[in-house]
Amino acid sequence: MLKGIAASEGIGIGKVMIIEEHSLEYQPKQVADTDAELQRFHDAVDAFCEETMEQAEAVKKSAGEKEAEILMGHIYMMKDPGMVGTMEAQITGGQCAEAAVEQICDMFIEAFSSTGDEVTAQRAADVKDIKTAILSILLGVKVVKISEAPAGTVIVAKEVTPSMTAGINKENIVGIVTETGSQTSHSAILARALEIPAVLSVENATTQLSSGEQLIVDGSEGQVITAPSEAEIQEYTEKRDAFLREKRELENYRGKKTLSASGEEYELFCNIGTPKDAAKAMEADGEGVGLFRTEFLFMDRNALPTEDEQFEAYKQAAIVLKGKGLIIRTLDIGGDKEIPYLGLEKEENPFMGFRAIRYCLKHRDLFKSQLKAILRASAFGDIRIMFPLITAIEELREGKALVEEAKADLRASGIDFDENIKVGVMTETAASGVIAHMLAKEADFFSIGTNDLTGYTMAADRGNSDVAYLYSPFQPSVLMMIQRIIKCATEAGIPVGMCGEAAANPMMIPLLISFGLTEFSVSAPSVLKVRKTISKWTKAEADKVCEKVMSMTTEAEITQYLKDVV
Ligand code: PEP
Ligand code: MG
Repeated sequence: MLKGIAASEGIGIGKVMIIEEHSLEYQPKQVADTDAELQRFHDAVDAFCEETMEQAEAVKKSAGEKEAEILMGHIYMMKDPGMVGTMEAQITGGQCAEAAVEQICDMFIEAFSSTGDEVTAQRAADVKDIKTAILSILLGVKVVKISEAPAGTVIVAKEVTPSMTAGINKENIVGIVTETGSQTSHSAILARALEIPAVLSVENATTQLSSGEQLIVDGSEGQVITAPSEAEIQEYTEKRDAFLREKRELENYRGKKTLSASGEEYELFCNIGTPKDAAKAMEADGEGVGLFRTEFLFMDRNALPTEDEQFEAYKQAAIVLKGKGLIIRTLDIGGDKEIPYLGLEKEENPFMGFRAIRYCLKHRDLFKSQLKAILRASAFGDIRIMFPLITAIEELREGKALVEEAKADLRASGIDFDENIKVGVMTETAASGVIAHMLAKEADFFSIGTNDLTGYTMAADRGNSDVAYLYSPFQPSVLMMIQRIIKCATEAGIPVGMCGEAAANPMMIPLLISFGLTEFSVSAPSVLKVRKTISKWTKAEADKVCEKVMSMTTEAEITQYLKDVV
């Protein structure tokens, strides 16, 4: 078995077609007639643009508009005077077109690759694709036609470039395996858009595998099964059929309300980390965003984002959501989330230390600039503010006072914002669970963060395998904590959601229905699954299961029982 990155889920069983890299060797030469050489170069660029435009049209039909834009991007790059102009200058200086294209493309590839940033590195892959295409045209090399691959083909290549993807016929290509690429590379995006199972970054795939051999591509687990036995083929055929059945069935839940079998309605939101994710949340049929983890805006950079930069990011998410709820969590750093430029001191016990709301309340300028950015964006949608890691009521009060200060500043400057913006608490510490009845009187909503709540209730670090047996949201203490938080919110008449991973767990869902949760916030790919699970339970059945679970005393007993009933 070969391991790689699970880039597009599903299972493909088929025969390997190795996509060889064709030789693009040439003899560099000095040209005397530079005008003729320039003409040859421009003809090649025109042919490239024409071909790419056709490919983009094909991709638009097979994968979608956004995916086609990747190829249109190649045309814009090739029309960019910075790129074309430098190539022309090389040719005018006497270089042949091939050498000019290769040298200048290599220069861009190196510049883009050296930043270490994934998005810029992707542009290097785009320039490589452009270079291969133009050199192929100049040298008259015939590129392998993936479009002619027979039914049941698994493409195996060093890299699947966007232009190669254009030739993919969804009916015939059952899987993709590459030696390079990541979850966010264009080949991954395109494979997902085409719904073809893909495993990327499989070392030496093109040399370890040979054309014609049978292969199973497990894009859900990131595995490639070579020389499968009859039993394995049988097993994976069943898995594939179950996967496709489930996928088809889940589509029935798209565009529907989130209702239990007895008709109670729930909000089904998504967790996001960037404004771009807001679009993914909408594509996944999320009904809003229950957790925008803003720390991602502060990571992977050398200085704090300005108020304006943050405003643009929050506004962009609000616009994409078109009036749907957007809960923005204020900066949650410290613990496992490090931001080097903030110069946080090393702590003996960072998870119990100077983090999240504690840090923000001591760095009021930073906090206020974030609050102002969120408030300004609230003029563009249904935005709510949420404070992480609350353990004492003063933290909520101080945070709210700062929101009022930020509002006063904006008012004085005549800037629009939502005067009635809701301010909620992320209940993710044992302390917040215990004082939930107090917090509920002063917060506009709760959202339960079970990832931390489990750790802080059980005093167990999930990264430590020696105590992993304790880290479970099904521990009676954690369930009692969740039950209490929901009860306190319900009694105070405020909405209560859950944005920790447990919200998407089919075994947890009946308990949450019974406790009275009003909103579930889950990762985008889980939306339809959660809607389906909720639809299977009546309130009465969920109550019965919940009563039984809450009478049990061990995690093992509880999970065994839940596995049997869900
Ligand atoms: C949580 O703690 O449950 C949560 C959703 O927040 P994070 O995972 O970002 O700590
Ligand atoms: Mg948390």
